[in-house]
Amino acid sequence: MFTDEYGRTWQKGNLHMHTSLSDGRLSPENAIRIYREAGYDFISLTDHWKCGRTELLKKDFLLLSGCEYDSGNDVRQGIYHIVGIGMETEPKLRTFHDASPQEIIEEIHKAGGIAILAHPAWSMNQACMASGFHGFDGCEIYNTVSGAPWNCRPYSGSFLDDMANRNIFLPVMAADDAHFYSGDETRSFLFVQSDDLSRDGVMTAIRNGDFIASQGPFFTVRKEENEIIVRTTPVDEAVFFTDSIYEPDRVTRGKHLCEAHFQIKDYDHWVRVELKDAKGRMAWSKFIAV
Ligand SMILES: [Zn+2]
Ligand SMILES: [Zn+2]
Repeated sequence: MFTDEYGRTWQKGNLHMHTSLSDGRLSPENAIRIYREAGYDFISLTDHWKCGRTELLKKDFLLLSGCEYDSGNDVRQGIYHIVGIGMETEPKLRTFHDASPQEIIEEIHKAGGIAILAHPAWSMNQACMASGFHGFDGCEIYNTVSGAPWNCRPYSGSFLDDMANRNIFLPVMAADDAHFYSGDETRSFLFVQSDDLSRDGVMTAIRNGDFIASQGPFFTVRKEENEIIVRTTPVDEAVFFTDSIYEPDRVTRGKHLCEAHFQIKDYDHWVRVELKDAKGRMAWSKFIAV
């Protein structure tokens, strides 16, 4: 937990990880300990098809209920992994039941949770198909364990941009999806703006979009007339993504930049920002419709 320059409180958390309750290498106790010791405020254990519990551990660490569901087994037809977070009851889904993505989203919602599309690039999801489902509350733009040395295609920005071009602005999230705890833990996370470290406080902030996805940098982004302004902890690069394939002023580079600006053009319909610090750690803003 920390307070920013405007006096707002932020909680740091990881919403996607596995333990020995499914295919993770560590016990739930050891996984929780690693994230606690790394300064996280909340996590969710999202073992495959095993819905965990919500619990406040020692007043300064929140465990949100979670579970990862999957649908489909042929990439040409679509394979979707969907993480449910913050459910108050167990979604009525069973592994032997071949649930559709829409059914998974709806059952997570009925149980009081939010539904996050996990690692769409790794799953080779296509926006032309995924845009047919409704109700995703977020989507991972980065999934640590999908990257090397464990796997491939960790970055889903192109998928999210393609969804945005269909007017579906999915809230941009990042998570570890830790399995091995050999460097795939405590890397990609959310900063959630909530004074209150409780299920309701964190879930409300996520639902309201009051969070950013990061691996280190902390930033704010705002629109002022025809300009997007980013203020950030020191970074070496800011890249403004839009639905235009060419922008003359898309990239700002320098040493220890704390601010970057982008002029919105007549032909832009949305803008989002990616930041990279001197250690190569990224941060990703939400989409801003312009
Ligand atoms: Zn998955
Ligand atoms: Zn997973």
